[in-house]
Amino acid sequence: MTDERIYHDTSPLKEKLSGKKIKVALLSHRNPDGDAIGATLALYNIFKSMGHEANVIVPNIVPVFLQWMPGYKGVTVFEKMNKKAERIISESDLIFLVDFNELSRVKEFEKTVLESKAYKVMIDHHPGPQQIADSIFSDTSVSSSSELVFEVVCDLNLDQYIDKDVAQCIYAGIMADTGCFSYNSSNPKTFEIVSRLLSYGFDKDQIYYNVYDNFSANRLQLLGYCLHEKMKVLEKYRTAFISLSKEEMKKFQFQPGDSEGFVNYPLSIKGICFTALFTENKDYVKISFRSKGNFAVNEFSKKYFNGGGHKNAAGGESYVSLEKTLETFINLLPEFEKELLSNDA
Ligand code: 5GP
Ligand code: MN
Repeated sequence: MTDERIYHDTSPLKEKLSGKKIKVALLSHRNPDGDAIGATLALYNIFKSMGHEANVIVPNIVPVFLQWMPGYKGVTVFEKMNKKAERIISESDLIFLVDFNELSRVKEFEKTVLESKAYKVMIDHHPGPQQIADSIFSDTSVSSSSELVFEVVCDLNLDQYIDKDVAQCIYAGIMADTGCFSYNSSNPKTFEIVSRLLSYGFDKDQIYYNVYDNFSANRLQLLGYCLHEKMKVLEKYRTAFISLSKEEMKKFQFQPGDSEGFVNYPLSIKGICFTALFTENKDYVKISFRSKGNFAVNEFSKKYFNGGGHKNAAGGESYVSLEKTLETFINLLPEFEKELLSNDA
């Protein structure tokens, strides 16, 4: 898969933002992660400084370890306040679609977005964008949507509005989507941007602590349980996976975001190049896939589990029971045996 870049002219957007005060809605995807919240809040803080009315809307709850971000109070969670969220979207003059490129990622307000007459802007780094925005800034080669937000903001000559708060949001987004600069971060440009961000004087170590040293004891015990009791290693397919039922999650008083990162652990086993995490939700099974090397988990997820994402990090959903989902997954592996065994990672 080669990288794709679609980068529209910034003039129409520049014009809309430079005139009178307008209403801007910044939308991001279900199960918002550090990049989704970092990128939307960076724009939120800039637009507020410019005097525009800005709101961030996400489908469901923001994990506690992201709630420290400057501007977090400006986030509306659709699941909690659907009427307010719908009103904000339908009254907006400008809508940003950030860190997603297909409306299925925001099913909750898909219809409201489609019906809105607002000018729409996409800033994203996933492959294959749907043509759902008037201005598209999409680049699969960048580390994160947050990095792309920085680029777009500079091209719009809005860098004068970048302050310590904005810099922290963008930095947190880049840090989160690169696993603290361990993947998707070999382009020197990413570090040039990080260097510029650090010049605003925030404490990057504190950002790490806020995100990664802010968990409950239950979360750590759940991780221990997953690795000790639940991890299945299928050496034959260079694959390992973990599954969690509703009951197991309840036992550890599961909070949103608690299983964030679990899917990466089995990838550290020598020889393993494909991992999955299955978590049973109220009405579907949420799946996370990770891989190393050439095995494209976004294609795998799109084909079999109603999902997508990046080549080495994707998500999906299954609408049958957890048991059936696991059975389907295991039964698919022989088909990919050759590909997994010859994987370059
Ligand atoms: P995660 O496993 O952390 O939820 O997601 C990994 C990557 O896949 C992220 O870039 C995320 O945006 C994307 N992703 C997660 N779930 C889905 C999904 O259901 N559909 C699509 N298209 N992408 C997803
Ligand atoms: Mn992202």
